[in-house]
Amino acid sequence: MNKTKIAIIGGGPAGVMCAIKASENPENEIYLFDKGIILHTLIPTGGGRCNLAYSEFNFKELAKYYPRGEKFLYSIFSRFSTKETLDFFEDIGITTYTQDDNRIFPTTNSSKSVKEALMKKLYKNNIKKCFEQIINITKTKEKFVLETVKNSYFFDKVVIATGGKGSGQKLAQQLGHNIKELKPALCSLITKEKYFSNLSGLSLKNIKADVSFDNKKTKKLNGDFLFTHKGISGPIVYKISSYCAYLDFSETKPLEINLNLVNKSFEHFDEEFLNELKQNPQKESLTVLSEYIPKNLASILFEKEKIDPKTKSGQLKRTDREKISKLITSLKLHATKTVNGEEIVMAGGVDLNEIDSKTMESKVVKSLYFCGEVLDIDGLTGGFNLQNCWSTGYIAGISLL
Ligand SMILES: Cc1cc2nc3c(=O)[nH]c(=O)nc-3n(C[C@H](O)[C@H](O)[C@H](O)COP(=O)(O)OP(=O)(O)OC[C@H]3O[C@@H](n4cnc5c(N)ncnc54)[C@H](O)[C@@H]3O)c2cc1C
Repeated sequence: MNKTKIAIIGGGPAGVMCAIKASENPENEIYLFDKGIILHTLIPTGGGRCNLAYSEFNFKELAKYYPRGEKFLYSIFSRFSTKETLDFFEDIGITTYTQDDNRIFPTTNSSKSVKEALMKKLYKNNIKKCFEQIINITKTKEKFVLETVKNSYFFDKVVIATGGKGSGQKLAQQLGHNIKELKPALCSLITKEKYFSNLSGLSLKNIKADVSFDNKKTKKLNGDFLFTHKGISGPIVYKISSYCAYLDFSETKPLEINLNLVNKSFEHFDEEFLNELKQNPQKESLTVLSEYIPKNLASILFEKEKIDPKTKSGQLKRTDREKISKLITSLKLHATKTVNGEEIVMAGGVDLNEIDSKTMESKVVKSLYFCGEVLDIDGLTGGFNLQNCWSTGYIAGISLL
């Protein structure tokens, strides 16, 4: 009896999950194409520890962490989300633990161990690996024709799981799909302000930010923050870059970011600061402010307002104190662009209106499926992007059974 020949283009987390599931039917013959090394993109995840999921077990709540794709993911997550992911990994020998911030990691703390377990499963399920780049794809009445530089291959069904970098989106376009423009998300930002470049590497825990563009407030966010040589980074900045991925900000029209470094209102902080200054009249004002924020940052804020940091606390003028309190509770920075090339994920991809979320099959071309970051789905940091791969990869895989 003739087997169903299935090509999965892309051996990243989504393609591999799909291959493992689809191969459970012995009538399927699975060919996994990758232009490079299978699962090489899994190795750097979670700083080498692989943040493979997030501890949120309510599927609607989980979907809220996706700036693009939230509604589309409902039916997918209702069938395969955090619990099913952890069960799947336990079945292949990967136990996990949850950090205080709800991020889930393998007990080994090693993305290599996750890769090895998945590779073992690929071997066990007899999946054929093809180390070639697919550069062209067409469909005749019955078959898909996949072209590499040297060869043409014929398949009954095809899954595109090529990630967010654009090559699979081109293949999808060749087959008549609409592509939402690709934009970097989860990345650092370059700012107009350079006065803090000496603070590069300094981080602040769980601060608040709100963002405005074109005089419109967009989002209120919180998270850890990092100064870099040319701008800002860290989880809160990744969130900003994600929510603002489609705002056209620039040197002339920057994104205004308002940081609250102490999570307190101006009035609340100013009163506390005043009391601290009163209780320590002989101390330098800088020393008192350093109770609230790192000393080198405090020093730069004094410098910015042209206030002598050595001023004795008892002699700090009210107007100067208020200037400092204002900066601490509302430090305005202006992002001019994203740091391209270092993004963790790309926003945009294959238009979700053209995909059936119950099967991951294209509504435009029969027997063509998609999963992972190639789609117009992206999440915040915290394990959400891999969760998208496991879930959409699983649904595509079982639809091929
Ligand atoms: C540094 C870093 C850290 C990250 N950490 C995390 C984390 O901890 N948790 C989390 O949830 N997410 C994390 N992410 C995001 C996550 O890694 C991606 O969202 C995920 O890898 C996307 O998986 P994918 O299978 O859709 O595509 P990819 O992982 O990009 O895999 C696509 C594969 O397809 C192959 N390919 C592409 N085009 C072709 C073609 N034409 N022919 C043949 N092969 C092709 C590529 O070689 C690649 O192997 C991180 C990303 C980065 C960059």
